[in-house]
Amino acid sequence: MRPAEPDRRTALVTGANRGLGLETCVQLREKGFRVILTSREDGKGIAATRKLDPEGRDAVYHQLDITDRGSITALAKDLPGLASRLDVLVNNAGIGSWGADRRQSIRTIETNYFGSRDVTDAVLPFIPSGGRVVMVSSGLGELSTLGRDLRGQFADPSLTRPTLDKLVSSYLAALEAGETKGAGWPSAYSVSKVAMNALTQILARDLAPRGIRVNSVCPGWVRTDMGGRGASRSVPVGARSIVLGVTLPDDATGGFYRDGKRIDW
Ligand code: NDP
Repeated sequence: MRPAEPDRRTALVTGANRGLGLETCVQLREKGFRVILTSREDGKGIAATRKLDPEGRDAVYHQLDITDRGSITALAKDLPGLASRLDVLVNNAGIGSWGADRRQSIRTIETNYFGSRDVTDAVLPFIPSGGRVVMVSSGLGELSTLGRDLRGQFADPSLTRPTLDKLVSSYLAALEAGETKGAGWPSAYSVSKVAMNALTQILARDLAPRGIRVNSVCPGWVRTDMGGRGASRSVPVGARSIVLGVTLPDDATGGFYRDGKRIDW
């Protein structure tokens, strides 16, 4: 892919070597985007990029493990050589943890919330006015999954980044103490996606003066490795919901969408 094509929009997708991330790259490319496909494992990411764009005209690969600070820094350093600007960031990479395993729960929060947050912060300097950030969230990130007190704290329209981080840390403390249920916390996966949605609202507010729109999307229940074979949606249908989040009208920011339609958070 040639970096010097200033009129062509560029999108970066995390966790794009398989599942919804890869199909999102396919559909964004069909819409005329240049795609930076990222993956935590080079072998998988390079193979996916070659399959997506065998001639190397529209897609380029870069390694990215969203939980690895060094990997995030390396991507940010290399970005100017990959594209003249970044029009779209899709925070898709994620893992699921619905059970009681403590280590897996911590890993889920580190990946889905802190990882997506850190990637966004690192690439924001390359996103121009008119750019978009899409957080791939979930219906399991609805506020209704939380106990009443927590719901009010996450939904507070004046919530700040430090307070949100403290809330997430208080979940990790409750997990450590074995007190998540009594304190109104749902699964680690739900907590991670609720926090992602809260971050969407904060970023939308903070980045409005820069003309950057930030929205969360739910792809529905999709037949990927994570969703399982029994899920109700195909991968293309789920990815379409993500891509519709990329192409929302200019005045849409700070919302939660499925299939291009605003849904309750
Ligand atoms: P998959 O399990 O099929 O794919 C997950 C992707 O995330 C893989 O590419 C995986 O890479 C990558 N990934 C995981 N951890 C990291 C990391 N630390 N750094 C970089 N990449 C990472 O899941 P889906 O495609 O189904 O899910 C994509 C997104 O959609 C997730 O955020 C998920 O929560 C969300 N979602 C999915 C639903 C569904 O029904 N499938 C429903 C609602 C939301 P690797 O191959 O190396 O493991």
